[in-house]
Amino acid sequence: MPETTTTDEDAAGGETEPESALATARRQLERAAAHVDVDSGVVTRLKHPTKVQQVSVPLRLDDGSLEVFTGYRAQHDDVRGPYKGGLRFHPEVTADECVGLSMWMTWKCAVMDLPFGGAKGGVAVDPKTLSDEERERLTRRFAEELRDVVGPKKDVPAPDMGTGPQEMAWFMDAYSMQQGETTPGVVTGKPPVIGGSYGREEAPGRSVAIVTREAIDYYDWDIEETTVAVQGFGSVGANAARLLDDWGASIVAVSDVDGAIYDPDGLDTQDVKGHDERPGMVSGYDAPQSMTNAELLELDVDILIPAAVGEVITADNVDDISAEMVVEGANGPTTFAADTILEERGIPVIPDILANAGGVTVSYFEWLQDINRRQWSLERVHEELEQEMLDAWDAVREHVEADDLTWRDAAYAVALSRIGGAKETRGLWP
Ligand code: GLU
Repeated sequence: MPETTTTDEDAAGGETEPESALATARRQLERAAAHVDVDSGVVTRLKHPTKVQQVSVPLRLDDGSLEVFTGYRAQHDDVRGPYKGGLRFHPEVTADECVGLSMWMTWKCAVMDLPFGGAKGGVAVDPKTLSDEERERLTRRFAEELRDVVGPKKDVPAPDMGTGPQEMAWFMDAYSMQQGETTPGVVTGKPPVIGGSYGREEAPGRSVAIVTREAIDYYDWDIEETTVAVQGFGSVGANAARLLDDWGASIVAVSDVDGAIYDPDGLDTQDVKGHDERPGMVSGYDAPQSMTNAELLELDVDILIPAAVGEVITADNVDDISAEMVVEGANGPTTFAADTILEERGIPVIPDILANAGGVTVSYFEWLQDINRRQWSLERVHEELEQEMLDAWDAVREHVEADDLTWRDAAYAVALSRIGGAKETRGLWP
């Protein structure tokens, strides 16, 4: 994610009541395990998180009153390295949602061959109702409540929906002050001035664009002839759309929470301001046609990129999806049921754990920079990200071709064989 003090979530506007992230994550795991030579005990183990921390986060509001919010950190698996994954501020955060999302982080890090496991956390709060001062106090107190379970070698949070570089800066500062030493590696996605990496904020969108470009090439399409609709114009959607536009694709529709804009001849994606840059400017843009978010999903385009919230392509609307291919910018935008129908219809879905993995990959670069106390140039970040994405794409493509798998099953196969190999070699200690 989508990512940043963001708002990609705003763009979904869906109203269906589909299966939960955890249910989808577990069903995907079961299905993928059938294609991989991995011990069934390992698969059973991977259906459960190692630990879920629940904390109460008291917050003094600006009016002097006190509220208590509930926060979570789900740590799914760390066989390959420290837990890694975002923290979201969103009213619908639950323990189960964090567990489902933490499982996806485990696979995402393994697909990218990063030395990390998977985690996810957050606070059930609507950050838009808080002042900047309230958000700072909430973030600092949340950091304090999680202090025992996080750390550069234990669990490294990052931005996710509703959080961004500023929240990571407050988190890092609160942690460092209590530890008595500046510890930049405790979180990633920080501003570059305090040890953040150049290119981290736009990385998930950049990886979505890279993977989309590779998919276009794989299917022998011409990027100049390819039409794309992007749901969500926050950090993921806007960066992906602008890069693909630069590379020749025609971005015919984009959206924010208030609705979508459509131009069959292609929008000028630089001219449309992102939701983070100026809220309301997407749907307010002077385009030939406006439509709802639901209509955007059903547009007859070559590629649909859902880059807002999860669970937007569901059993209810999957029959109306007209795109030739789906590239998942958000985490978990396609439910298990919808995914199966897309497969039957022959519509490839490039999964989130590969497509938006640029975020956690540049987080890994950031963690390395923090440990070495040496910042990389933006150019180096771009080059190394490009190479990591191409390596992961090739590993997944080989499984697609050799075993006739869907892109999601192939990505899971790559991840599971790496995780399974590590678990079998280290040995379970039940
Ligand atoms: N929240 C991001 C994701 O879903 C990034 C996590 C990270 O960088 O650790 O991939």
